[in-house]
Amino acid sequence: MIANNPKGRIGVTGYPWYFADAFVLDSSNKKMCSFCKDSFADIAARARMGCAECYKVFREEIAPMIKSLHGHLSINSDDQHQFYKIKSSNQYSDIIISSRIRFARNIQGIKFAPKNEQAFDNIMNSLSNNFKFKKIKDFSEKQINELVKKRIISKQLSNNKTSGHLAIVHQNTKLVTSINIGEEDHIRIQSICNGLDLDTAYEQAKKIDTAIKEKCKFAFDSKLGYLTECLTNIGTGMRASVMLHLPELSKNGMMTFFVNQLRDLHIDVRGGDGEESEANNNLYQVSNNISMGRSEKESKYLVFNIATMLADYELSYSR
Ligand SMILES: [Zn+2]
Repeated sequence: MIANNPKGRIGVTGYPWYFADAFVLDSSNKKMCSFCKDSFADIAARARMGCAECYKVFREEIAPMIKSLHGHLSINSDDQHQFYKIKSSNQYSDIIISSRIRFARNIQGIKFAPKNEQAFDNIMNSLSNNFKFKKIKDFSEKQINELVKKRIISKQLSNNKTSGHLAIVHQNTKLVTSINIGEEDHIRIQSICNGLDLDTAYEQAKKIDTAIKEKCKFAFDSKLGYLTECLTNIGTGMRASVMLHLPELSKNGMMTFFVNQLRDLHIDVRGGDGEESEANNNLYQVSNNISMGRSEKESKYLVFNIATMLADYELSYSR
């Protein structure tokens, strides 16, 4: 245990389990990141990395955590498998509410999550010719609530009135693709589609990811992949998720069973209202919880399969 933490925030209780072990290992660690000046105790206290350089400085310390979280220590960018084209389907129109793909990206050479406008000048300058950004603080309260409700921005971004920006790059009645700046990572690219259509969401988000990559240098490591503020997102930085309405499975007590079983497949099933929420109104979000050792397409395909499996069970219980 670290005894003399000036912030008084070090303690095993209340931190993610993968950092809890690190506290014990860390007691004599005096290393400091030369770029962001974080010690490992600083990182552990936030459970967040300080910058891309931290990944090099604290490689040894974080390796066991990455292994525990993802089951792998390197990215798998090769798709070994042939995947069927994932088609959109109306079969589950009452059950599957929406499909979403999100990429987490950070810019090389900027500390993770600075909450000041100046640090974001580089990003905005690089992108403003191609995308039209609006500051979060310039949206009305009503607009913000609507964006959060439609899951176009997170509650966290809605509260970032200093450096939060949003660019809606593509929008029709079925799909919204956006670039969210100043959430947990510098850039979150996300595409959300009505119903079951992970492929369209993926294609749209990927297009924007590629366009931004031509303008900015992302924090990237050849072994670890995209470097993110939280260790849970490194690798592809991609989260595929599907929102389902499962009243019958909830009523029959089946969801507890599925949540536990799917954990072994590194698939999260959570309440639909947000990352930490309990299932509310029988809404559940199915998403991949590892982004290393599995390619983007593998994750997308797995989430698709689990979502359709749950939807099939829901249908069979409704009859
Ligand atoms: Zn650092």
